[in-house]
Amino acid sequence: MAKVEFVDVTKTYPDAAQNAVDHVSFSVEAGALCILLGTSGSGKTTLLRMVNRLSDPTSGVIRVDGTPTVDQDPIALRRRIGYVIQQVGLFPHLTVEENVRVVPSILGQSASETSGRVDELLQLVGLEPAEYRKRFQRQLSGGQQQRVGLARALAADPSLLLMDEPFGALDAITRGRLQDELLRIQRETGKTILFVTHDVEEAFKLGSQVVVMDQGHLMQEGAPVDLLARPANAFVGKLVGSANVLRQLEYLPASAACESGGDSSAPRIAAHATLLDALLQLMQSKRRTLTLEDDGRDIGQVTLSGISNVMAAARQTAADQAAEAAEQEPLPARVEGAAPTPDLI
Ligand code: ADP
Ligand code: MG
Repeated sequence: MAKVEFVDVTKTYPDAAQNAVDHVSFSVEAGALCILLGTSGSGKTTLLRMVNRLSDPTSGVIRVDGTPTVDQDPIALRRRIGYVIQQVGLFPHLTVEENVRVVPSILGQSASETSGRVDELLQLVGLEPAEYRKRFQRQLSGGQQQRVGLARALAADPSLLLMDEPFGALDAITRGRLQDELLRIQRETGKTILFVTHDVEEAFKLGSQVVVMDQGHLMQEGAPVDLLARPANAFVGKLVGSANVLRQLEYLPASAACESGGDSSAPRIAAHATLLDALLQLMQSKRRTLTLEDDGRDIGQVTLSGISNVMAAARQTAADQAAEAAEQEPLPARVEGAAPTPDLI
């Protein structure tokens, strides 16, 4: 497990009008799955590539396990950090087995030493070794290639994995399966993962911590439910869909709708269940209230109107923030016949 700290990190590319990454600070605890979320060009890839020294900050420091990256040999650092990208980058003339073994063999381990490990890794990423070990890239689907890419990144048993939109090119069903596998692998191995995406659903499904980026700036950092319940500004609110009723229901805890009182005969629901669980239980039980319990202790009740109030309050906050942002925005100059300004978010 590895801890990663970004301290006032700025990256300026030559001749660029603005910094690709601008004074960004945040920490990723060991064993966390941290998502870098933002629109295209917001600096996500640049942040990731500075962790394994494919690029270095113009100013500021990145520490991996307490040591600044710039004090570490880039090659040695990259061997300790797995890297998975959308284009996978398997060697087409090597078999699956040989691709997975690339890093261990660079580290001087022989084929006989690593063959058991290759099978273990293929199994871990959901590929039956006997069937896939000898295949070439052209004999694999996109999802299977991405699984091999993940096995290869895990081969040297890195404590940290960097993943840059790894599932971006896959269809929705395959992407969903690979997301489930990644969550399982992370549970089983406890690796620290920094994962880039522009897809909010993916961020919410995978992330224990989400860092929202826009134009090189860190807009907000927190657990998905924090971003949803308390977006720092209109940009974050719009990006995470804080006015999106279904997402609210799916991610906010039932405790968000907790009211005092309670009926001892009412069905019970755990405080960490979601609002959607609560809504479904209310509908199925045809009761007016549920008793909310935390660690076996009654803490209040949840009603349909309580859930509805939470939704309404969230929608109101989002609307207020949008209005505030519109007020701060300079009015576009009126040009005769000009097209309306497109909504870029
Ligand atoms: P993201 O991954 O969020 O889409 P990037 O980190 O790739 O964003 O890019 C952030 C900004 O830096 C963009 O404006 C991009 O054009 C610029 N940029 C990225 N890489 C380079 C580079 N090698 N040279 C110059 N500018 C770059
Ligand atoms: Mg990118």
